[in-house]
Amino acid sequence: MRIINADGRLGVVVPGGIVDVERASGGVFSADAQAVYSRWDEFRAWASGPGAQDVVLPRPADPAAVAAPAPRPRQVFGIGLNYRDHAREANLELPTTSLVVFTKFPSSVTGPFATIELPSESVDYEAELVVVLGREAYKVPSSGAWDYVAGLTMGQDLSEREVQFTPPAPQQFSLGKSFPGFAPMGPELVTPDEFAHPDDIELGCLVNGEQLQKGRTSDMVFSVPAIIAFLSSVLPLYPGDVIFTGTPAGIGWARQPKKLLRPGDELVSYAETIGTMRHHFVASGT
Ligand code: ZN
Repeated sequence: MRIINADGRLGVVVPGGIVDVERASGGVFSADAQAVYSRWDEFRAWASGPGAQDVVLPRPADPAAVAAPAPRPRQVFGIGLNYRDHAREANLELPTTSLVVFTKFPSSVTGPFATIELPSESVDYEAELVVVLGREAYKVPSSGAWDYVAGLTMGQDLSEREVQFTPPAPQQFSLGKSFPGFAPMGPELVTPDEFAHPDDIELGCLVNGEQLQKGRTSDMVFSVPAIIAFLSSVLPLYPGDVIFTGTPAGIGWARQPKKLLRPGDELVSYAETIGTMRHHFVASGT
């Protein structure tokens, strides 16, 4: 199943368009995409039944009408250095037993086709697979962790590198990655069963048509189940929470010369089976 948050309304994507969930369910489920995750099992059962084919609307003509599939998560986690080639380019030691974890504050969430303000000339891209939780997860072993995932979507862990790396250590990862618009997600949330191999998904991004990142989630140091097991060993993950799972090599900050986002740039981010996001950047205050 694929869901979309279009025109402020939760929808199930079907071949002919989008099923309006609130209308097709007679109000059993709300139009608020964030609300569905706390009733995810019930929603999946309804969505696989006959009523879920009613009230099919066309896809929105304006891509900007599509918002993040989890627009108001209670918690947004980021995982650092989770691909071997990225740790190498960043000249940082590969974590082996414990994940590098930071938060992206929920106010940074935006949609898959948003225009994003650049607060400085030090903003970098990080194409990432994003996990959205469909059940509360606390002290969950990795062996059953996929059962707690509502679905996967594409994300960009946009990062202001000066704020992120300014000393003293430990630096300001969470602030540097939480400017408004720095956590775009979308365009749709895809349930794990839709993937041939949910642990091996190609993803990447292009800036102004030039491919700068390309990787596979099978190269992650900590898999999706391992991340959920680690995070949930410390605190509860709630339905609708979001995890940015780390980025492969090719970030702009590690290039010679550095290649950072500029006003007017177009950033296209994609993941196999999930789809493509397209973002444009403007200078702060414009
Ligand atoms: Zn990242």
